Amino acid sequence: MKILMVTTELMPFAKVGGLADAVSALALALSKKGNDVRIVMPRYYKIDRNNLKKIPGAMGVHLGANETWVEVYEKKLSPSKALVYFIDHEESFGRDGIYGTTGEPDFLDNPKRVSLLANAAFQICRKQGWIPDVIHAHDWGAGLIPALLKFNERHSSSEFKNTASVFTIHNIGYQGIYSKYFFEDTGLGWENFYASGIEDWDKINFLKTAIVSADKITTVSEKYSQEIRQREYAFRMEEILNYRKDDLSGILNGVDTSIWNPAKDKLIPYQYSVKNIEEKAKNKTALQKKMGLPVDDSVPLFAMITRLADQKGIGELFGPSYGSAFKICSDIKLQMVVLGSGESWCENELNSLSQRLPNLKVYIGYDEALSHLIEAGSDFFLMPSRYEPCGLNQMYSLLYGTLPIVRNTGGLADTVENYNEKTGDGTGFVFEHLSPQSIYDTVGWASYAWYNKKEHIRKMQLRGMKKKFGWNIAADKYLEVYTSAIEKL
Ligand code: ADP
Repeated sequence: MKILMVTTELMPFAKVGGLADAVSALALALSKKGNDVRIVMPRYYKIDRNNLKKIPGAMGVHLGANETWVEVYEKKLSPSKALVYFIDHEESFGRDGIYGTTGEPDFLDNPKRVSLLANAAFQICRKQGWIPDVIHAHDWGAGLIPALLKFNERHSSSEFKNTASVFTIHNIGYQGIYSKYFFEDTGLGWENFYASGIEDWDKINFLKTAIVSADKITTVSEKYSQEIRQREYAFRMEEILNYRKDDLSGILNGVDTSIWNPAKDKLIPYQYSVKNIEEKAKNKTALQKKMGLPVDDSVPLFAMITRLADQKGIGELFGPSYGSAFKICSDIKLQMVVLGSGESWCENELNSLSQRLPNLKVYIGYDEALSHLIEAGSDFFLMPSRYEPCGLNQMYSLLYGTLPIVRNTGGLADTVENYNEKTGDGTGFVFEHLSPQSIYDTVGWASYAWYNKKEHIRKMQLRGMKKKFGWNIAADKYLEVYTSAIEKL
């Protein structure tokens, strides 16, 4: 199948969050299965042109009444045959930041930038004489793709008349809402700008645009595909998603097991597997030493690696007035390690808490190597997310024999089986409501099991480590969705 992906993030070229990993891993898996996969993304300033191959001739892209000239570069997505096209336009992408910078978190001209990306995607297909069977657009940054295909490009005499669109929602909390002042740039006609169409209270909403126009819609776990039809989780998109429910499905992201495998992980001092799980304790010692905690295997070590954002339950854990971390670390005999960066109030609060609590150690920043050591060296992993479309760390934790403590939401609910105190079955600890008390109680419950039910803890660790989260399964499911989108035409 000929598959075109359109995205604003792609590993290893540009990453803000899990989107970059997911698109890249999916493209690799689909390519490995023999599909002709190509990807369109911006050539951000950070991506060195010298490492790319230029496609000869500038390319004109219509943006409303204007024509914009761009250069296009290409490069293989290693290690596969998938080809990435980079849209190079100095004015739009020749700057630091993908969606914004610290000083300007959301670039004012983002609507123009994503309009250029989407329109250029169709143009590069024409230019290369390569017309995809399906275009798979990811998140709001590529949200115009399904609408441009449906309303402009897919008419009876067009080369795109047999092309279908699939749109994946990686996080519905980010929708790309902007002034209609930029609408002309999208290339769409004003006849589409109405409330039950792509308009959102007199503004452009790129995510909604995709939801109303894509042939099929997916999101990154089964549970999240149900949750985003409810008001609590939908960020106002519940009605339109309920209307589109027959075309909506959830496909769990995979894990890149060439990177996240405790038996082969070069970033941890002691590799281990289900056959020699005792080695895990040596990583715990290494982690305790690294973080300045007393070396003691008898005390359970709880960890968290996260963006410090409201979505992750940080208010309930670390909020200065009512967060439960202080009480957890004071009342329960445990150690805790937090690696993260994000909202500055939380960074400050974590630093302050760690000064008051000898059993809490904090590293503010982003550190890939430390994240591997934490996964390998901890006993429990905390993810009390308000919502979690898929979540990666709970899956890494399962594979590393580190028991996840999660809220019953999204991908967390789909991947973690709750502990059964009678049988010792399960792979982690699951709680319902996000509140400081529930987090406290669940950490207490896990600690109780640690001190009193050692055999259950070991049984759960081994069960989690045997789970399979490869991209192969996800890629097959996406191929089914692509086929059903094409059959709809
Ligand atoms: P999200 O995409 O919402 O941030 P995910 O769990 O899907 O959450 O993916 C986040 C990824 O980023 C995980 O692989 C996690 O380990 C990693 N990560 C987040 N914060 C840090 C950090 N401070 N240092 C290292 N890795 C981090």
